[in-house]
Amino acid sequence: MPSIVTLVLDRPSPSLTVSPPNLAGLTRAQLSAALIDAGVASPSAARMRTGQVWRWIHNHGATSFETMSNIAKETRVTLADRFVLERPQIVERQQSVDGVIKWLIRFAPGIEAESVYIPDVGRAGALCVSSQVGCTLNCTFCHTGTQALVRNLTAAEIIAQVQIARDDLGEWPAAPGERRLTNIVFMGMGEPLYNLDGVADALDVISDNEGLGISRRRVTVSTAGVAPKLKELGERTLAMLAISLHATNDALRDQLVPLNRRYPIAQLLTAIRAYPGLSNARRVTFEYVMLKGVNDTPAEARALVRLLAGIPAKINLIPFNPWPGAPYECSDPATIRAFADIVNRAGYASPIRTPRGRDILAACGQLRSQSEKLRASARRVSDAGAPAAAL
Ligand code: SAH
Repeated sequence: MPSIVTLVLDRPSPSLTVSPPNLAGLTRAQLSAALIDAGVASPSAARMRTGQVWRWIHNHGATSFETMSNIAKETRVTLADRFVLERPQIVERQQSVDGVIKWLIRFAPGIEAESVYIPDVGRAGALCVSSQVGCTLNCTFCHTGTQALVRNLTAAEIIAQVQIARDDLGEWPAAPGERRLTNIVFMGMGEPLYNLDGVADALDVISDNEGLGISRRRVTVSTAGVAPKLKELGERTLAMLAISLHATNDALRDQLVPLNRRYPIAQLLTAIRAYPGLSNARRVTFEYVMLKGVNDTPAEARALVRLLAGIPAKINLIPFNPWPGAPYECSDPATIRAFADIVNRAGYASPIRTPRGRDILAACGQLRSQSEKLRASARRVSDAGAPAAAL
């Protein structure tokens, strides 16, 4: 008997479906334009209407228009016809024994990045967000950096990382004193200064008082040192600055952070000294990864102090987080302490960053790698005929 194939014609395949615009990550100006365009707000009433919808999205975390109780029913129906309020898909959620939570998020097919919530950092807890999928920098000690750049994340995709964390922590809304998510650090995958437009727009939304309400002073942008972009970063975002320094001379920094060949230490320091708003109350954080026998001698600690003379700074010593095949080891605890003492005696706060989330590969420089491996092995399992649920 011939088999019967039924073609379902009333349901186009997903690739043919154009989904309605998602309002969840738009800036105020974009949201206003979308509402006017859809006829949901007249240009004269756009400010009020945008404010209403904005507060539902960014203060209450609304993911449907139905809940917007102060908006007329028929307007809500029009909104639901024209738009969606969606989160990207969470592919994996892992929680570390130390309370760190890591999400692998799929923004679109093949576009995945991770974000990490770290309790007890900043005022109450910090979210480490990604700005790119992959990275172009190839820092030799960073596993994330060995993965090719796929693309920049959009502002909406950066904002979605914060929204997902808020969903998970159940903080829609929460009074500032009761929040567990109080700080944002751009220290996930990617180089934020190669995606300054996305980062700046995301910051406008994240810091909005009628929305997520995370003050710009609680947002830190970390860069490997794109010197010519620092001024613009400061002017557009007013964010706190962190610099991944890791070495005190160009010969070594050229190896560890190849970007140094383009913007050597002297040029970088000049740009840092000119960072808008720099003061004792708004210090630059210098990140310094401790690599055994590479950059961890007392002489280098003294060189670091000399290099940073006159810059309002904190120095964050990061024990190297190992990854399979890494060409480095972490410095011994006693070596790190001796380094920290020298920096401390020179008057700099120099906390040693406690590695967090290592058991779920959520620590600095470890992002994304495990997810790729997991997916590769999961693929092998599924190729061998295991149920799709194994994926
Ligand atoms: N590209 C930006 C944002 C990434 S921040 C930047 O370089 O600043 C990630 C931080 O973790 C950087 O300071 C980076 O140097 C550090 N890091 C990367 N790999 C690491 C590892 N294996 N162990 C410890 N710190 C690492």
